[in-house]
Amino acid sequence: MQSQQASQIVDKLPALHHRLLLWDCPAECDYTCQHVVTEQRLAREIPYKEPIQQFHGKWPFYRFMGMQEPFSVIFSLLNYIAHDRGVRQLREKLPASYPLRKYYLMFGYCGLVTWICSMIFHARDFPITEKLDYFAAGGSVLYGLYYTPIRIFRLDRKDPMKQSVLRIWTAVCILLYTLHVLYLTFWSWNYTYNMAANVAVGAVHNLLWGAFSYVHYRRVGRIWAMWPGLIVAWIITAMSLEVLDFPPWGGMLDAHSLWHLGTVGPCIWWYK
Ligand SMILES: [Zn+2]
Repeated sequence: MQSQQASQIVDKLPALHHRLLLWDCPAECDYTCQHVVTEQRLAREIPYKEPIQQFHGKWPFYRFMGMQEPFSVIFSLLNYIAHDRGVRQLREKLPASYPLRKYYLMFGYCGLVTWICSMIFHARDFPITEKLDYFAAGGSVLYGLYYTPIRIFRLDRKDPMKQSVLRIWTAVCILLYTLHVLYLTFWSWNYTYNMAANVAVGAVHNLLWGAFSYVHYRRVGRIWAMWPGLIVAWIITAMSLEVLDFPPWGGMLDAHSLWHLGTVGPCIWWYK
């Protein structure tokens, strides 16, 4: 009966907004069957009732307006808006002569690109949209680490020693990112490695900011000096949602989307 229902649904041509988001017949069939199977499993009486299973490594989400993971798309959009507003504030408030201005702006541009790629990926998951999302996110995480010592040790200053260190540091980061992309593209699309690389880079970044905040706080004794450290603590808490992977509530709201929601606050805060 349910497979009849599935074949009836896929018999029709997908709606226009679904076709625009590249839902072709095999994709429609896959989507419909995932929900038929999930509903069957959940409809069983108690001892036979079975938990929701993942398909192709993903929970069976209900799409909205053709978007595969609507909440992740919406929360990515909120992050995008936060960066967009932040970049505009930086442009207005920081004088062009301020040496760190370009580094702050670049952080904003990395954020904008990352959240556009995230919206596209969560709207439709294809190998290419997944790669773009991962590479952009990896780039942003690495850029966060790149700019941290520049800010903490003021490598932007016109001191010849600092300038040499800055050049070497820039070359190291470009090399690391290139190797990362080449490895994932030509060697192996390795989720464990990708996660480990991001966590490692993020951890060094967090340690640097944590230590910097603490030293700064000890020196000035004001709570605002702890802000960078608190932002980092918030991000780590939100990140733990990534580990707590549970089936989406109402078939739509999952841990990954909440992690994207969790980064909106620190993002607004960062620009302050
Ligand atoms: Zn995501």
